[in-house]
Amino acid sequence: MSVPFSTSASGQHPNEPHSSIGLAGRLNWLRAGVLGANDGIVSVAAIVVGVAGATSAFLPILTAGMAGLVGGAISMALGEYVSVSSQRDSERALIAKERSELRDMPEQELDELTGLLTNRGLSETTARQVAAELTEHDALAAHLALELNITENDIANPWHAAIASAIAFTIGAILPMLAILLPPPEIRIPVTFVAVLIALALTGAMGAKLGGSPALRPTVRVVVGGALALAATFAIGSLLGTTVA
Ligand SMILES: [Zn+2]
Repeated sequence: MSVPFSTSASGQHPNEPHSSIGLAGRLNWLRAGVLGANDGIVSVAAIVVGVAGATSAFLPILTAGMAGLVGGAISMALGEYVSVSSQRDSERALIAKERSELRDMPEQELDELTGLLTNRGLSETTARQVAAELTEHDALAAHLALELNITENDIANPWHAAIASAIAFTIGAILPMLAILLPPPEIRIPVTFVAVLIALALTGAMGAKLGGSPALRPTVRVVVGGALALAATFAIGSLLGTTVA
């Protein structure tokens, strides 16, 4: 009889430590990375193109781009840290609650587990037997998996999430920095536009593929959105550069 959850194909017990980040988990990380890179490309490109619209001097463009890169990376990391921390706190609270329920009312918890198993298609008799065996083996792991769909060792680490998103943003941000700073001043803006739009098309298509959706529409959206952002900040920079300077 196959256990109705987790990786039972290889005959593992569901609560034994196995590589907790499966393919889906890895794809999610990759997708988060691509989206973070996307953010880095758009926001830093918009900043440097805006400044380059106002001045052709190298230093202000470099300074603004660096400030945007560092500020953006920290802000992304902070946002991710806060959201993953609160997710972790609520998962820990659920685990603690489950643990105390198992200690204080084992009978009801056994009934509950039996109910969860019948919901998944086992007959009453089989469900009761499976529930009893799972409870015997590792009650907490069985309840976490069947009731809450979590395991104790795949609780996300907020630091990992924060560092990963800061790195993704930085990788994205480096592209517009190079595109605006390396070419001669006369062509730096068109070069940056082209480089950014190509990069956005790639990240847009990759993000869609990793998310399992068709690539064309999201790619068009992200490219059009990026082009609008660059056009807007370039217009503002040019306007300020000619009127204020
Ligand atoms: Zn329970």
